[in-house]
Amino acid sequence: MKKIPYGRQNITEEDIDAVSKALKADFLTQGPTILEFENSFAKYVGAKYAVAVSNGTAALHICALSLDVKPGQKVITTPITFVATANCVRYCGGEVVFADIDPETYLLDIREVRKLLEASPKGTYSGIIPVDFAGLSVDMEAFRHLADEFGLWIIEDACHAPGGYFTDSKGIKQNCGNGVYADLAIFSFHPVKHIACGEGGMVTTNDLGLYKQLLRLRSHGITKGDDSYTNSFDFANSEAGHDSYPGWYMEMQQLGFNYRLTDFQAALGISQLSRANNGIIRRRYLASVYESAFKLMPFILSQSGFINGHAYHLFVIEVKNRLGLYEYLRTRGIFAQVHYIPSHLMPYYRELGWKEGDLPNAESYYCNCLSLPMYPSMTDDEQKLVIEEISNFFK
Ligand SMILES: *Cc1c(COP(=O)(O)O)cnc(C)c1O
Repeated sequence: MKKIPYGRQNITEEDIDAVSKALKADFLTQGPTILEFENSFAKYVGAKYAVAVSNGTAALHICALSLDVKPGQKVITTPITFVATANCVRYCGGEVVFADIDPETYLLDIREVRKLLEASPKGTYSGIIPVDFAGLSVDMEAFRHLADEFGLWIIEDACHAPGGYFTDSKGIKQNCGNGVYADLAIFSFHPVKHIACGEGGMVTTNDLGLYKQLLRLRSHGITKGDDSYTNSFDFANSEAGHDSYPGWYMEMQQLGFNYRLTDFQAALGISQLSRANNGIIRRRYLASVYESAFKLMPFILSQSGFINGHAYHLFVIEVKNRLGLYEYLRTRGIFAQVHYIPSHLMPYYRELGWKEGDLPNAESYYCNCLSLPMYPSMTDDEQKLVIEEISNFFK
């Protein structure tokens, strides 16, 4: 019996050739392929700058650092996401404040965020991290207005949504991560995401200052470039009477990390990116087939009706006998999954004071949600089988 997972990577011969070529080139890491991947990715999402990093979590971490998250600062995010979204605030000693989701979209509810902001003196919160959950874009324009009103920054967690978009009030399609409304956006290239590098991540932004800061943070806080040095020519040359810096010179000006991506991962990323559009088209097609097949089934499909801009990382249903359906499908080789156990109820966040009942919409969503298989290489026959087995379960 062939297994059908909820998501999986698609590696082609072209991908393998691209990686082999990178392995035979001069640089395994810190070479030219990184910049090429960054430029292609920036172009794909429509942002000015992109910084490739070792994974999506590292991307979140350097974003939080570049926005200067400090102990005591409060940042608002959603509990219905991978835990890394919130954790980046904790890495910097900040305080995570979860706000509830909108049950109609499963996205961070902007009304709940406003309530929090209005209930405290200005300056209490420093930023918001909305998530384009499952591939459905947040209305980033609305979040920008709110953020500006309260002087906050925005990190868009767009891990689920490369290729997704929403339409703003001027009727313009705004790609997830294009940097028009959010200060920074992050992506992951984990195998289950749209573009696979094994491990990998990307930050996109339209802000030159943040871009430079991200580049430093990615690589130990080191900078190379005459115009940014703070030590003197004489110190750098270790003798007096110089008016330039020697060739070897560099400076570590702040505490950074090694969050670099390798060149052979970037080569895989470039090759994968060239098929990303087709992948999105296929995902949207699979979603439309599910939606019509499920019209008569006892499901809630809250994210339906968004097929155009939706990037469909996940296809989520809400179903009463979720455990029953999950187990039934498993015995037939179909591995549905649950996204997500609300972050605020993870033992780590309970320890920080969060408890059941704090976020009722997220908690009731968690009771019934199930992600069905959704990936571009899923065949029509495989999808047919998934649909058949689901209808058998309800017979
Ligand atoms: C995958 C994911 C991350 C983390 O990415 P990694 O590359 O696994 O570190 C963060 N946020 C969301 C929403 C994700 O899906």
